[in-house]
Amino acid sequence: MTTELSYRPPRLDAIIFDYNGVIGLQPTLLGWSGLAELTGWGTDQLGHFQSAFWSAREPYDSGELDDAGFWTAVLGHRPNPELLIRLRAVDTALWTRTDDRVVALLHRFRQAGLPMVLLSNAPHPVSDALDAADWRPLMTDALYSARLGMNKPHPATYRNALVATGVRDPGRVLFIDDRADNCRAAADLGLRTLHYTGSPADIETHLRFEAAA
Ligand SMILES: [Mg+2]
Repeated sequence: MTTELSYRPPRLDAIIFDYNGVIGLQPTLLGWSGLAELTGWGTDQLGHFQSAFWSAREPYDSGELDDAGFWTAVLGHRPNPELLIRLRAVDTALWTRTDDRVVALLHRFRQAGLPMVLLSNAPHPVSDALDAADWRPLMTDALYSARLGMNKPHPATYRNALVATGVRDPGRVLFIDDRADNCRAAADLGLRTLHYTGSPADIETHLRFEAAA
């Protein structure tokens, strides 16, 4: 017996991926502690360090703050040039670890000819590192907040990503992000969305449903 779907969504023509929390793994506690130690915060003060870190991250992601500006805001004083280089390197390493299970999916989608675009809130050093990653050529294009001059969930970030897919109709493009507010903003513009919670099987299931529709 077959079940008739009462609603058939239009064909899926492209995917827009978030990086961190989707293609990229979230930082480990050890990674956070290593960064905090560099700044002089003890590991027992990790919460305080993370508060200082996040309070300045949005303007760093959007390109409003440069490396020195961001770390001056986090530390409360300007780091010397040697420390700044180490902070930038350790911070970039923290945010560029990749989930191999999702990269395997990227290879399959690429083989299937599906255009894929990266849309990531990332400062310049992380953007440069992601552009150099071995999986990056699988993507049609990659858009980073620091280069766009604005962060998700600003509507223009999604419009730029949609243009990069080469697909005109947002209803034929799937946006995948681990943040609900980013998904809501994308849905407001007519994109289809998957609020990703860390299971690559969810992406496969979603794609199979879309393909079967
Ligand atoms: Mg994310």
